[in-house]
Amino acid sequence: MKITVVGCFGAYPPPNGATSGYLLEDHETKVLLDCGSGVIANLQNYICLAELDAVVFSHYHRDHCADLECMQYAAMLDMLLEKRQSPLVMWGNADTGSAFSLDYEGYCIGMTYTEYMSFAIGELRFTAQANEHDIPSFSLRVENAAGSCVVYSGDTGYYDRFCDFAAGADWLICECSLYSDQKRLMKGHLCATEAGQIAAKANVGNLLLTHLPHYGDRETLVKEAGSIYPGHIALARPGMVLTLP
Ligand SMILES: [Zn+2]
Ligand SMILES: [Zn+2]
Repeated sequence: MKITVVGCFGAYPPPNGATSGYLLEDHETKVLLDCGSGVIANLQNYICLAELDAVVFSHYHRDHCADLECMQYAAMLDMLLEKRQSPLVMWGNADTGSAFSLDYEGYCIGMTYTEYMSFAIGELRFTAQANEHDIPSFSLRVENAAGSCVVYSGDTGYYDRFCDFAAGADWLICECSLYSDQKRLMKGHLCATEAGQIAAKANVGNLLLTHLPHYGDRETLVKEAGSIYPGHIALARPGMVLTLP
């Protein structure tokens, strides 16, 4: 399994960058986790949009789904131009409201997951767990046929059950919106120390800090998480590739 960081910023994209978006590739399967602002533009540095099998959304804050409808237009054009053979599948929780639909005119097929329901995209198996956030937000556990596992936090505040959900993952892709001295600045998000705490309790193989702040010295986040978690910690950057068996 190969994971490419397409975008790694919280809230809004930096110049020429993107908010949340992670490309998972496992043999022929290509899945995008979240499709935030700027993700479509940057994703095309790595694959053609017509190659994408599915998009899985953690939740519908716009830094995770702002490009959703543009992705639907891309699927439509690629099908009309016969670049895409089958509709793009869009998986998300049921909380879309009336603002948009995961379904689009037969070009995108919307699918709804619920907590702990297991679903497959190609050979990848997904499970979701409800997070602590101000709207329904889910962390996602992804496993391939070789038994490799990555857990993506989506957006969440600290909760103990997340450590159980992430247990033993090869990589934990964990939101880290805040420096540790900002712990109470925003509810429903993690500071670096909390990300380290989760990684340590879950005994994950590696920790990737993401959903990063736009300000400050981000290397400090690694030091703060590393004060709790003794394993390998990386700071997400666009284009970064993680390789799992
Ligand atoms: Zn977010
Ligand atoms: Zn959010």
